[in-house]
Amino acid sequence: MEFKDEVCINHLAGMVKYATVSNGVSANMDFEQFYGLHKYLEETYPLVHKTLKKEIVGKAALLYKWEGTGKSKNLPILLAAHQDVVPEGNYEGWTYPPYEGRIADGYLWGRGASDCKSNMMAHFEAIEALISEGFTPDYDIYLAYGYNEEVGGGDYNSAAAMCDVLKERGVTLGCVIDEGGGVGMDEREGVSVPIGYVRTGEKGYADFIFTIRDKGGHSASPGKESAIAKMGQLAIDIHAAQFPYRVTKGVLDEYKAKGPYMGERGKVFMNMDKDFDAVIPYIEQAPFLAAKFHTTQAITMIKGSDQANILPTEVTMTVNCRLLEGDTVDSLMEKFKKIAGEGVEITVGTGNNPSQVSTIESNAYKCIEELTKELNPGCIVVPAISGGGTDARNYYPICDSVYRYGGFPQGSGSGAHNYNERFKIEGCHKGPEFFYKFIRKYGDFQAC
Ligand SMILES: [Zn+2]
Repeated sequence: MEFKDEVCINHLAGMVKYATVSNGVSANMDFEQFYGLHKYLEETYPLVHKTLKKEIVGKAALLYKWEGTGKSKNLPILLAAHQDVVPEGNYEGWTYPPYEGRIADGYLWGRGASDCKSNMMAHFEAIEALISEGFTPDYDIYLAYGYNEEVGGGDYNSAAAMCDVLKERGVTLGCVIDEGGGVGMDEREGVSVPIGYVRTGEKGYADFIFTIRDKGGHSASPGKESAIAKMGQLAIDIHAAQFPYRVTKGVLDEYKAKGPYMGERGKVFMNMDKDFDAVIPYIEQAPFLAAKFHTTQAITMIKGSDQANILPTEVTMTVNCRLLEGDTVDSLMEKFKKIAGEGVEITVGTGNNPSQVSTIESNAYKCIEELTKELNPGCIVVPAISGGGTDARNYYPICDSVYRYGGFPQGSGSGAHNYNERFKIEGCHKGPEFFYKFIRKYGDFQAC
């Protein structure tokens, strides 16, 4: 089967026309947009909808099952992505309107084009093609598309709900593939060959909100105390208490795989479990590297009163943290309480612990690795931990092999969560091609 860029991009353009914006409060969402998208998918991929069993979980999550012949002993797989998108912001910021599905200048423009309707398109194109060729898998395949990934699950985590549905039915998965990177050069790390990064885990996410209350009053007679000065001191103290750098299994796996292609520097990184001090000078020069070796904490917001001549009755400060494997929201809370001392209230906004780290010994990983090398001669496949969150973390209760990988060329998508989100036309058939081949190939790998 030959997938064509033009066809793939046109189908994706149709999906982008639905403003499937999520919100932490489901009642604030326009579900008609989601139902519109569902109808469009039915019309665009008729064979998928004739052959697979579809059910709606919660208000709009799509869970499909393609029943296999059962000839293979392989466990079922689940391909995941999310239907929802972040708000488009000010229309003036866009070169082309965010929900028109405009194809121009070599790109499809619009909210969701990259994050992550492109992944849904890749799955649907692949399966539609397989069915048209009379293919039936030897094992079961699930497709799962949640509707509140961008708000971390919000008041109804639809990906977790789909996992619960499958768990209740006694399903154990051989692998999950959710949104993630593609294949390309990694210039920042000075690697000499193209890399396909397969994300085997993700850092945790937590917003800590610190509150100091005061009596407030007129700014003309402020007294000696200042709630903002107290909070300012606390900000300095927290900033000074950075989490220490350390080596985890996730980061060690990553550098063992790519170290041999990183020149002299690679030797230092591959040896980090024995001589970590040698890595520190590199880490300290590059924030993106540092983030792989510790829990990060960024003070992002401080708020006092609403007017210049009013003393605040409440000062709040938000510290956004990305948790490294081994730390938890609770362990961070303990640390912050110790620094803050009496008189400061600390609460957690959104808070997720780091995910489990998936094995790289599974059939599915080997299958992704072999296929990626086959489709991109000369490249290497490297396991790595994702700094951002995805729905994938919700599937660990029924799967040890949860990966985040897209199959598209690196740089296909740009502007995610920003103005001018877009997806490159050239090479956009590569995602469908990857999943088309993966579904065939996975069946050939014998279950161990
Ligand atoms: Zn996404």
